[in-house]
Amino acid sequence: MSGSALRRGGAGTTEGLTVLDAGFIRSWIRIAAEGVGAARDHLTQLDAAIGDADHGVNMDRGMQAALAALEGQPDEEAPPGRLLELVGNAIVLKVGGAAGPLYGTAFRSGAEALGDAPVFSGEALLAALRAGLEGIQRLGAAVEGDKTIVDAWLPAVEAFERELRSGGDAVAAAARAAVAAEEGARETIPMEARKGRASYLGPRSIGHQDPGATSTAILFEALARAARSTLA
Ligand code: ADP
Ligand code: MG
Repeated sequence: MSGSALRRGGAGTTEGLTVLDAGFIRSWIRIAAEGVGAARDHLTQLDAAIGDADHGVNMDRGMQAALAALEGQPDEEAPPGRLLELVGNAIVLKVGGAAGPLYGTAFRSGAEALGDAPVFSGEALLAALRAGLEGIQRLGAAVEGDKTIVDAWLPAVEAFERELRSGGDAVAAAARAAVAAEEGARETIPMEARKGRASYLGPRSIGHQDPGATSTAILFEALARAARSTLA
């Protein structure tokens, strides 16, 4: 795409640089909420195997609250970073257990990284996603291989960065990130959980896909779809 105009209120490019805005964030969260809603029972089944069978219900409630918070916020008063902050606040408020504070922190950390700029670049989106990962790890102290959200989020951020560095735009980077998150979630199956409720099971947590890594893969798939639909 060429030209300098923002298109369809979602995103555009200026002299080859990707420009993302509040419309892109709204689209991401709407698609993510749909994805989490559709996967609610699946996420709950995964959590039933190695946790307490509430992850799907938790996340669905949180994403619906996030959507409602965004709908109550007119664009003029809400730069992209502010929208992410509202999402984080809604999730903290509505999602219990481990995932609420972790995802809430991720979105709030991403919000801080974006600041109050009205538009942002693919590079800034990478910084926000990385800030989200750092927030999750600061709070939960999980590293790669612990069978958590980190096992999907970390490879997603790395894939996003690799694609940008090799000249790809935010659409390509988000697509790579989605694939990496999905693979990362699948790779939690043979892992033994070392953090969260599943770690109480010890070796019995082996052989099951981690629910949190799975919901992270849904968030990144939504990111990719939002990027495709607003930028392509
Ligand atoms: P709870 O375990 O309190 O019932 P959820 O079921 O909503 O909360 O979320 C469980 C998910 O949270 C796990 O599948 C795992 O991915 C994630 N999780 C738990 N502890 C951590 C942690 N310390 N760091 C990152 N993710 C974690
Ligand atoms: Mg649970």
